[in-house]
Amino acid sequence: MATFRQRALNEAATHQTKRFYEDGRPVSEYFGQNVLDLEKMRSYISPKAYEAVLSSVKFGAKLDLSVSDEIADGMKKWAMEMGATHYTHLFQPLTDATAEKHEAFISFKDGKAFEKFNGSALVQQEPDASSFPNGGLRNTFEARGYSAWDPSSPVFLMDGTLCIPSVFVSYTGEALDTKVPNLKSLHALSEAATAVANLFDESVRAVKVNLGIEQEYFLVDESLHNARPDLMLTGRTVVGHTSAKDQQLEDHYFGAIPSRVSSFMKDFETEAYKLGILLQTRHNEVAPNQFECAPLFCEATKAIDQNMMLMIVMQKVAEKHHLKVIFHEKPFDGVNGSGKHCNWSVVTDTGVNLLSPGKTPTKNLQFLSFYAAVLRAVHKHHFLLMTSVATLSNSYRLGGGEAPPAVMSVFSGSTLYGVFKSIMEMTDVKVSAVSQESIKIVNSIPEIFPDNTDRNRTSPFAFTGNRFEFRAVGSSQNVASAVYVVNSIVAEALKEFRTEVDALETSGIDRSSAVMEVVRKFVTEAKDIMFEGNGYSREWEEEAASRGLRAVKNVPEAYEVYHETQTVELFDRLGVLAPNEVEARFEILNETYVKKLQIEARIIGDICLNHVIPAAVRYQNVLIENVKGMKEIFGAAYLSYCSAEVETLKKISTYINNVSLDVEALVEARKVANRVEDIAMRAKMYSHDVKDMMDKVRLSADNLEMLIDDEVWPLPKYRELLFF
Ligand code: ADP
Ligand code: MG
Repeated sequence: MATFRQRALNEAATHQTKRFYEDGRPVSEYFGQNVLDLEKMRSYISPKAYEAVLSSVKFGAKLDLSVSDEIADGMKKWAMEMGATHYTHLFQPLTDATAEKHEAFISFKDGKAFEKFNGSALVQQEPDASSFPNGGLRNTFEARGYSAWDPSSPVFLMDGTLCIPSVFVSYTGEALDTKVPNLKSLHALSEAATAVANLFDESVRAVKVNLGIEQEYFLVDESLHNARPDLMLTGRTVVGHTSAKDQQLEDHYFGAIPSRVSSFMKDFETEAYKLGILLQTRHNEVAPNQFECAPLFCEATKAIDQNMMLMIVMQKVAEKHHLKVIFHEKPFDGVNGSGKHCNWSVVTDTGVNLLSPGKTPTKNLQFLSFYAAVLRAVHKHHFLLMTSVATLSNSYRLGGGEAPPAVMSVFSGSTLYGVFKSIMEMTDVKVSAVSQESIKIVNSIPEIFPDNTDRNRTSPFAFTGNRFEFRAVGSSQNVASAVYVVNSIVAEALKEFRTEVDALETSGIDRSSAVMEVVRKFVTEAKDIMFEGNGYSREWEEEAASRGLRAVKNVPEAYEVYHETQTVELFDRLGVLAPNEVEARFEILNETYVKKLQIEARIIGDICLNHVIPAAVRYQNVLIENVKGMKEIFGAAYLSYCSAEVETLKKISTYINNVSLDVEALVEARKVANRVEDIAMRAKMYSHDVKDMMDKVRLSADNLEMLIDDEVWPLPKYRELLFF
């Protein structure tokens, strides 16, 4: 067998099931041990410094330099007790990954070595990093950027390094990361939501967002992974014929977890627990070798930071197990891809979940107000919301009939949908099946909400009882870029809600009636976004189009939404992103799209020329020799004995030719696109011309895989990659 693949298979067979991070103690005993939370910090700093941190965490107050030295020193003490030697500002640049530059505590003075970490190093760093995506926000003559500690996220320890969660901004203060706009959107949402919540309860002072982030991923044996240049460099297979068996028997979802995988899961959970990540769920997903984990929901910033940490931890722990975690949204054609479902809810500082239907009329009215605002937000900005998850990798998955469709809609469940219908039509709802009770709508506000447990897995944005589940987010994405869009659009709608209620009240209408009227108006105007049926169906595609809902069919074309006035004004008015920051994001998104596709296009070219064609030619020669021999023995009658070989030979020769010509055409398509100066135009050309050629190349390559001798095929096959 081709030595490359054979070696990988042999190696993979030696990889054993083992635990590396087993901690015999109950989880509660070591949970959070690598995080310096407020409680622990208290014993390392003076009460005055502690107060400063507290008000910074609670109210976003700036940290006084007079105490930052002391805080830094306290952190250093704790970190060194835990064995740390370095510190780093950990930030989230516009790459969907995290960035870190480690600095040693160790310093030298008067012939003596000592550990040092002062306030200025804690509060601010100046990464000499002009090579992060910046969309033109940093001029080359002023390439500095600042990372600054975000005290709302606690510092923690990873790999002997004190990690300081940070924001990343340009020299002139523009956001160069996903954290800054997210923090700003949370602030905007809190303000707008508090104003609406105050209609029902004057004591509410702030509203925060809770997030529960479900993470899907694939696992592949490390040796097999490393024998696939495409998986190594792009996280997905650019060629590869589907396996005879993959997910058609529906035997993987919730199936027994293979023991090698379960050891890996237990190990990364142990490490995650130490970082205070409260993982609760683990299970097999639909595709073979696809899995999911989910933590208990928590406050948004923490949830996002923890998700980024979790991805790092999973990758590190996987190394020990000779496994590779694949976060790419669509690593394998023909089987399901991976998402990162974002469960989103809003809760007051008094502890009320505003998306939880209540038992009393007032609570229900409040719930309806927030729900109506979400409907309005998602309806008005449906295309922006869908575009917030549009990346090259996620585009291979969305709209594929296995993941959320390319068009946005909101699923409410039959009970709630009935309520909204009645609100619009001013009739009472009959809820016979569940509770035998009816919900009175006419002239009053709904009284009862039966439990809502409907699930619709084909909806990109589904209400699940007390939260919305944004299911279209990609598994490799930093969810912040989707979450700040949700926060922003809902903040805008809530502001409008309060303004309209105020206007009605001023005109003499009582509060309940005013609220109900605005709810009715918002729901009626947004009714086209509500859809209860099968989101994968062709009928819905047509129906959605007739309702004026725009589908994200082409990623770079969708990015144009960042040029629409409605988008630019939304972010600007709320103070989430200034127009030039939006423009920078537009540039970066296009640039990233081009670069990623360029890498994929190069890889498929290399694989075809260096792996596929040579293997195919080798087998072609075997067949040629065989046919020649047959002719020698049987003379003119040879064809009646070896017509199969001749037919195969013809097919192989044709595919070799096609692959070779198509790779040439692919290179040419890339060259033509690369000459286009405008990055958005270039991205569009890549999305059509380059992508189309890649599909053609793949088709012939995959056909060759099916025809040629398994012994000479050099790349691990799907059936080998996808089953432990
Ligand atoms: P499913 O796969 O059925 O959607 P999971 O248990 O895998 O359910 O994930 C559900 C996620 O939603 C968990 O992270 C959970 O903590 C989170 N969640 C539950 N309630 C809320 C809420 N009110 N707000 C935000 N997230 C929530
Ligand atoms: Mg789940």
